[in-house]
Amino acid sequence: MDTAIVESATAHLMQLNVRPAARMERGFGSYLWDTSGRRYLDFVQAWAVNCLGHSPDVLTHALQRQLERVVHVGGAFHNQPADALAGRLAALSGLSRVFLACSGAEANEAAVKLARKWGQKHRGGAFEVITTYDSFHGRTLAMTCASGKPGFDRAFPPAVQGFPKVPYGDVAAVADAIGERTVAVMVEPIQGEAGVVVPPPGYLRALRALCDERGILLLLDEVQTGMARTGPLFAHQHEGAVPDIMTLGKGLGGGLPISAMLAREQVACFELGDHGGTFSGHALLSAGALALLELLTSESHTAVRARSAQRLEASLGQIAREHGLGLRGRGHLWALVLRDDRAERVRDRAFELGLLINAARPNVLRLMPALDVNEREIAELGVLLRAALAPG
Ligand SMILES: *Cc1c(COP(=O)(O)O)cnc(C)c1O
Repeated sequence: MDTAIVESATAHLMQLNVRPAARMERGFGSYLWDTSGRRYLDFVQAWAVNCLGHSPDVLTHALQRQLERVVHVGGAFHNQPADALAGRLAALSGLSRVFLACSGAEANEAAVKLARKWGQKHRGGAFEVITTYDSFHGRTLAMTCASGKPGFDRAFPPAVQGFPKVPYGDVAAVADAIGERTVAVMVEPIQGEAGVVVPPPGYLRALRALCDERGILLLLDEVQTGMARTGPLFAHQHEGAVPDIMTLGKGLGGGLPISAMLAREQVACFELGDHGGTFSGHALLSAGALALLELLTSESHTAVRARSAQRLEASLGQIAREHGLGLRGRGHLWALVLRDDRAERVRDRAFELGLLINAARPNVLRLMPALDVNEREIAELGVLLRAALAPG
């Protein structure tokens, strides 16, 4: 990577990560093109955001139609797309109250506020939300402290209090950590940013039972795993463990900045003025998300997605066997575990070959393609990934 070019080209953007010099200009489906016309096969999709790939027709058409009507009416008024989106999400999840926001972190903030409110009303002022090591819940001040990424909660002192941590996948550790001040447990169904860490089978079901037994809330951060990323629309449906509060983001807008916090009727105890947001219930974003949701939940698309996931798993399994790598994940969220810390080198090499993948950890490559990535694209992934993994 030519960092000199990057610096001159982005002199006014805060430098918060290292990026290749290429400027992305156009995308369609599983492909991105840069300003020089180079094409990239995209198995990152803006971090599992573009669930149907770049600029899917369904989104383009829905946005065009809504743009001609109204973009945003503000929180003081109802609008049809936001009401319809909330209704569909409630029907599909069984969580009947929905708050719409614009990012995963914001949805999680709302979730923790709601849990604390519920604690004030129903659990003697309990406010602690137990989270897990290596978890990721966003980058606001409170969510950096809720996250279990090493060092995250000490980076911007003073820390936001109230997020004790336990090892992921360990129900007994949660049981031990629950005290009088505990109001909720918050976990990801699969830890995404940690490198696609899949918990032992039954983890969510056991947490559900534990929370019921101890009278606390189960809060699932499905910002990455939701919207069919792991197979079913929500990852907790693998285990039939329905949360009290759930957050969605990333795939919800297929590239649009929209997120949601959903709660059970009895838990949705916010009072007037307790929460809100300038862009909450955004008509244009909601119209886009609604159109995507209709497609994602259609029978034909569900079948396409299932076939795509099977092909992807088989192909990655083959590559893992050939190269002696670990493979973990589900649906369209996968990690290849390397035997040494060369993930960034493999990622950079893949980039040069025209393939976008993510180095989630020094030894972990993460793949999160469009949910309808097809046979030809998966075959192309195989060719490019093998070349990137080849020694030398
Ligand atoms: C990405 C992510 C977030 C943060 O979402 P933003 O939209 O970046 O605020 C929160 N939780 C999980 C599980 C995520 O993967």
